[in-house]
Amino acid sequence: MHLKTPEEIALMRESAQIVSKTLGMLAKAIKPGVTTLKLDALAEEFIRDHGAEPGFLGLYDFPNTLCVSPNAQVVHGIPNNTPLQEGDILSVDCGAYKNGFYGDHAYTFAVGPIAAETQKLLDITKASLYKGIALFQIGNRVGDVGFAIQQYTEAEGYGVVRELVGHGLGREMHEAPEMPNYGKRGRGKRFQEGLVVAIEPMINQGTRKIKQLKDGWTILTADGLPSAHFEHNVALLDGRPQLLSTFKFIYDALGIESDEEAPFEYTGPIIA
Ligand code: MG
Ligand code: MG
Repeated sequence: MHLKTPEEIALMRESAQIVSKTLGMLAKAIKPGVTTLKLDALAEEFIRDHGAEPGFLGLYDFPNTLCVSPNAQVVHGIPNNTPLQEGDILSVDCGAYKNGFYGDHAYTFAVGPIAAETQKLLDITKASLYKGIALFQIGNRVGDVGFAIQQYTEAEGYGVVRELVGHGLGREMHEAPEMPNYGKRGRGKRFQEGLVVAIEPMINQGTRKIKQLKDGWTILTADGLPSAHFEHNVALLDGRPQLLSTFKFIYDALGIESDEEAPFEYTGPIIA
């Protein structure tokens, strides 16, 4: 595991905040009729305007700035020219690279009004993210976070994707340790001060089973039911989990009130 200094964590926060602002910008653009290729172009321009590079573009040969995964797509969807429709959900995963460090987080958006049971999937998946973050504590282990997310979401009858997991984050997009959204309490690597991770529950309304499109990227649910994905970047700093990313720009754009991030407020150094 690559443990970071407070100064490195401050740089990582800057990269994460560029992603947060990009998602906030997209929140206003996501509406019926817009294509995901248009969203991708907006995001690339926005990231470059903020002095960063798209974190996903070219990474493992991924062709775009955003991973955009509507409805039954779980993650890694490729932007295309199909207009979004009212009632869709759209998971948007975005990365930015600046000062040698990556930011990487995701949010699942509603496109206009959506079905109540789909909204519940989004609400429970996002809540499970914070259940996991709360257990990212000195001395806890990888399995404690995974267990919390799994227990909370499976209690609703949802499927927890096994094949894709969260991860350490830093000078590489994917560092040790792997952070599964399932697990056993007290198992796995022990968390230490200076660790930065991406926690990212991928939760299916139905079966946990997935399949992959022939494009070699897109992951979707095996039963065609919706899937949700929320991701934050979190540092263990001053002995507690602190959010480097934020959904507040999304909430500002959409007029949503929330105090969900308050327990994990960042209090470390800030890059001017
Ligand atoms: Mg991501
Ligand atoms: Mg990630």
